Amino acid sequence: MTTNEELYERGLRVIPGGVNSPVRAFRSVGGVPYFVARARGAHVWDVEGRRFVDLVQSYGASILGHADPRVVAAVQDAATRGSTYGAPTEGEVRLAEMICDRVPGLEQVRLVSSGTEAAMSAVRLARGATGRSRVVKFAGNYHGHSDALLASAGSGVAEGVLGTGAVPDSAGVTAGAVADTVVVGYNTVPTLDDDVAVVCVEPVAANMGLVPPAEGFLEGLRAECDRVGALLLFDEVITGFRVAAGGASERSGVRPDVWCFGKVIGGGLPMGAFGGSAEVMSHLAPLGPVYQAGTLSGNPLATAAGSTVLELLDADAYARLEANAAALATGLRLAFDAAGVPAVVPRSGPLVGLFFGAGTPHDFDSAAASVAAGRYPEFFHGMLDRGVALAPGPYEVMFPSLAHTDEDLAQVVEAAHQVAASIAAGAAGAAADS
Ligand SMILES: *Cc1c(COP(=O)(O)O)cnc(C)c1O
Repeated sequence: MTTNEELYERGLRVIPGGVNSPVRAFRSVGGVPYFVARARGAHVWDVEGRRFVDLVQSYGASILGHADPRVVAAVQDAATRGSTYGAPTEGEVRLAEMICDRVPGLEQVRLVSSGTEAAMSAVRLARGATGRSRVVKFAGNYHGHSDALLASAGSGVAEGVLGTGAVPDSAGVTAGAVADTVVVGYNTVPTLDDDVAVVCVEPVAANMGLVPPAEGFLEGLRAECDRVGALLLFDEVITGFRVAAGGASERSGVRPDVWCFGKVIGGGLPMGAFGGSAEVMSHLAPLGPVYQAGTLSGNPLATAAGSTVLELLDADAYARLEANAAALATGLRLAFDAAGVPAVVPRSGPLVGLFFGAGTPHDFDSAAASVAAGRYPEFFHGMLDRGVALAPGPYEVMFPSLAHTDEDLAQVVEAAHQVAASIAAGAAGAAADS
């Protein structure tokens, strides 16, 4: 039998850090990553045959759970007709219609192959459409790894996995590339001026742990953008088609000018999208002067998977997603309370976060202060040992899917009781030692 250790060693020889996305390397929790052999529904199995209740779900890309038979059938069926042509297909039109139908105010989208590409292209579009240069983003919000947006970018960057420690930035990004990027604190409406092209925001922040928008924050951004003629961009790569059929713009009632999507809309295959009104999108090639393209954009396998997923996300599905998240959050809170471990478990619709410590973070600094206490690695490994896979980083969130049953969630909560009790015992032991 192949072991995780063996695969990791082989990987380290031919792939930097042994992984193709830094957080997977377990740097911020320690240890050897599990290599997935297969997955189905709420579960993943590693190459050693261990089964985990999976709360990663590819960072939310698998909203139905893994290997949903309806998605598998759609992808298989599409694959028999060829996997990419370099010519448009009905599947792309259909997925774009489904996306625009669901999101209030969204008239057109361009399909791309990742969230990074969506955000990078959306910023270029916003700059081209306004004729302005400056981009405002919020500390701890992640918009993918394009140069202009890789400043105070939360998540994998904040974990220091880029090797820059606490400085959330990347080598190789020039001062010039971020010279027009302004980073401000989340949940505070900045005062803008009329050289701002676009304000990029995660309408529910989910890459610095889970930090919901404060009352009036998104409304305030809308008003301030309108005051100076800047565009407002909602990065809905996580929230899109997850917090509601129409995403955060439906849930909050605030309508941005530009949207980015990813994760859910690919049904587990590489897919992203950005969009806006027909007027804004008319600046994009071939209609306008803002260039953007992609050999695999609108890929037939990805559109087949994505449209199958969107079709299945009806009102009942959203109610179940939210009920699953509520059960998980309530169970985790009880587990920490019972053990006397200070922790907060924020929830926003179907998204669940976890911060150790007493305070509820409202921006990146307060989230980072919670993470600095260093409790997450012990919790992560305690859960993994008990068959529950959480994201291997303290700035990620939990993604209970539609496939998680009451039994799966009860297993997670039972494991959390045990791990919280052992953390409390360890802390008591450490206090007695000193
Ligand atoms: C995941 C994510 C991205 C980047 O998407 P990729 O497909 O990983 O490139 C962008 N924005 C947000 C909010 C994300 O969570």
